[in-house]
Amino acid sequence: MDNYVIALALTTFFAAASISCIPFLLGRIRQLESTARAAKDTLRHMQLSADQSPASILYVSPAGTVGYANSRFLELFGCTYNIVDKSVFDNSNHYLPEPIPEKITAALKEKASWRGAIVIPSNTDVKNPVLGSVTPVFNTSGQVDHVLLMFEDSVSSRATAAEKLYHESNYSHLTLLPNRKLAFEEIQRLSNASHDGESHFALTVMDIDHFKDINDTFGIRVGDQVLRRLGNRLAAIDEFTCFIAHLGGDKFALISSENKYGRMIKLVQQALSKPFKLGDDSLSLTACFGVTFYPGDAEDSFALLRNAEAAMYQAKSVGRNRVHYFKESLNQQNIAQFNTANQLANAIEKDELSLCYQPIITLHDTQACGFEVLLRWNNSILGNVSPDHFIAVAEDTGLINPIGAWVLNQSCATAAGWQGQLANSSIAVNVSSKQFTDGQILKDVKAALKTSGLAPERLELEITEGLLLDDLPETRSALLELKQLGVQLSLDDFGTGYSSLSYLKRYPFDTLKIDRSFIKDIAAADESSALTLAMIAMAHSLGLKVVAEGIETMAQHRLLAEKGCDMGQGFLYSKPLAPSNLGYWLDNQSSPSQGANLGLTSDCV
Ligand code: C2E
Ligand code: MG
Ligand code: MG
Repeated sequence: MDNYVIALALTTFFAAASISCIPFLLGRIRQLESTARAAKDTLRHMQLSADQSPASILYVSPAGTVGYANSRFLELFGCTYNIVDKSVFDNSNHYLPEPIPEKITAALKEKASWRGAIVIPSNTDVKNPVLGSVTPVFNTSGQVDHVLLMFEDSVSSRATAAEKLYHESNYSHLTLLPNRKLAFEEIQRLSNASHDGESHFALTVMDIDHFKDINDTFGIRVGDQVLRRLGNRLAAIDEFTCFIAHLGGDKFALISSENKYGRMIKLVQQALSKPFKLGDDSLSLTACFGVTFYPGDAEDSFALLRNAEAAMYQAKSVGRNRVHYFKESLNQQNIAQFNTANQLANAIEKDELSLCYQPIITLHDTQACGFEVLLRWNNSILGNVSPDHFIAVAEDTGLINPIGAWVLNQSCATAAGWQGQLANSSIAVNVSSKQFTDGQILKDVKAALKTSGLAPERLELEITEGLLLDDLPETRSALLELKQLGVQLSLDDFGTGYSSLSYLKRYPFDTLKIDRSFIKDIAAADESSALTLAMIAMAHSLGLKVVAEGIETMAQHRLLAEKGCDMGQGFLYSKPLAPSNLGYWLDNQSSPSQGANLGLTSDCV
């Protein structure tokens, strides 16, 4: 064993300088066999040196049992010193989280010399491909005593300062794949070549689905680890004509010939779907791909990249695991989305948001029993933007959380200050499902109630079915906690989503709001009216009150009142009003049968 360790230590020490020193090292090993004591001292130094080596070193017996592994090897393969005495051929106990590449294990089995470039599936900063070697070490009888396995990480051990600088500015420090700059240069190179009559090419931009959830759930370090491993898998895709770059974040670019992009996407999808082990957990990924072709879709490199990104965002808006192709109309949509998000980010600061209040009426006596709070945005450049548009952008960009908190604070403060006829009126605030992430809504509601002093019973939250689709325990407990605070809950736009009865049974709702698309045709006694009546009956049987949205005509009002619908809301009674107009509206409120308030002007519609 001593001789073996001495041999190993010397070998590794010199191997750190260069793989090509191996024959020389073997000579030294033999000399040292006769000076065991001196060598024992040397051994400690050598082992230390081997551990400092930038090369990864593993010494195995002819049967494949590990005798020694240096620190870089342990780091590269994600294992511990427990690997000593284990077989590199049998990984049933998973002491090697990143398996040794097959080409190497084949050479180890054969005890044959091998040298070549290889990709290591590692989660460290290794610059793939690395230079690897397998070298059998013979004893004096000419038999293989041990086999030395080494990997030389070219960046860490060999690169000059200039090479390192080049690498840093052209490659992602995380995945070590070419970065956005290099990808752009490649697109330009290919388009120049194409001008000279060379082949056309495809540019595909890919973005991992819900990657933010990985960062949020496991932390950014684990997120980075997943990206690093994915980078290694992508680097290992052995396709001659493909160029894969890491554009930043969880976004990648694939550049390939026009007829290869389909195969590239398949290979990348396979790399994503292979599970990533994260401690006891394991997850596999999907992504959305946006494909664009040169020169068909654009001749300019910037435009090409922008088009591929637009197609990818379009794919994302439809769902996960999708491939979309660029269409000219996408650009306009994307530019609009980008402008909206940019302006919206400063809307609170620039005091561009305001709230208006639409009365909710008790149908049997046409008295206002509450007000729905509706958000308005008047931007200096874009003008009045419809909430249907900007709420979707706020949800996509995460701005919905500060905006949602602002709406809650403002509306609770306004309602708490109401006096006279308005003193006991309740407010119904729309809440996006995105506000339920990480228990945000609970914090915001508690803060708004505390600061304003509004009685919780006067606050109702309007939630849409989207929140309930995944039936998450966190959602249920958040809704229960809100109920325990004394807040009312209503299910908004019922009839437009899954319209599942089971939600109503399983979640603690007080009110069901029937979407205005059903109310529109209710007087025509067709399918809509039959469905509306069934919804009213069903909600009542579950103990819920019903609000009909979008009542515009007396015929609708009468029919709904006749069928026992509890409340209504719509232009027949009032459009959404600025807070300063509420008192006036209440003073002048007339029964719809005497002529509704449709004529009331409002700066808030
Ligand atoms: P919603 O919650 O269903 O609100 C009712 C929408 O119907 C409002 O549109 C209202 O102006 C409109 N409406 C009311 N009565 C009538 C009627 O008789 N006829 C017609 N044609 N429309 C009527 P608005 O204000 O444009 O809001 C659209 C959607 O934007 C809301 O639908 C809600 O989903 C969302 N929204 C508005 N404010 C907020 C907010 O503060 N937070 C969140 N998350 N969403 C909001
Ligand atoms: Mg609503
Ligand atoms: Mg609604």
